[in-house]
Amino acid sequence: MLHACYSPSAVQTAVDLANTLKPIKGDDALETVEQLREFLEDHFPAEPEPASSDADRCQRRRPTRADLAEVRALRETVRAVLERASTDAIGAAALINEGLRHSRATPALRHDHDRWWTEITSATDRCSTHLAATILSALASVIATLGPTRLGVCAGPNCRATFVDLSRNGSKQYCTRTCAHRASVAAYRSRHSPR
Ligand SMILES: [Zn+2]
Repeated sequence: MLHACYSPSAVQTAVDLANTLKPIKGDDALETVEQLREFLEDHFPAEPEPASSDADRCQRRRPTRADLAEVRALRETVRAVLERASTDAIGAAALINEGLRHSRATPALRHDHDRWWTEITSATDRCSTHLAATILSALASVIATLGPTRLGVCAGPNCRATFVDLSRNGSKQYCTRTCAHRASVAAYRSRHSPR
């Protein structure tokens, strides 16, 4: 079997970044530098050894207000890619390519403890560009290996959270089981409600 060339954790980071904004409720979990620091810590846990990857190095520097503004701008791009890919793949691809160019994304071959892996990193020292290079290249790989329809927005009427479907059959419509359950309950009620 051909192994997928995307990193599931980088794909999840992309989705989590987009979903820090809840478009229907208007809740925003990325409004402060502290929230950005927590997001980066959760997604790029610092290793006890000296920083081995660029994402790690980015994480060690405390984010600033400028980093926050840049990551919020990146979030708009990532959300647009996730929202658009299944209906306008060419448009989503243009956004990814522009973002990768802007981040000066650079592939690198890494070696550690008898293990080799490749990583797309950024040729700059900006936190946001490392994040952009990592997550946009992960979304690009999903589109290239599984197709653009794997990126999507939850069909729950009050949700609009984004998701990437890495499952075997690729039939995901809802962001979570909770949303799928809520939708099936609502459908059942509307079928059985007295007229
Ligand atoms: Zn949902």
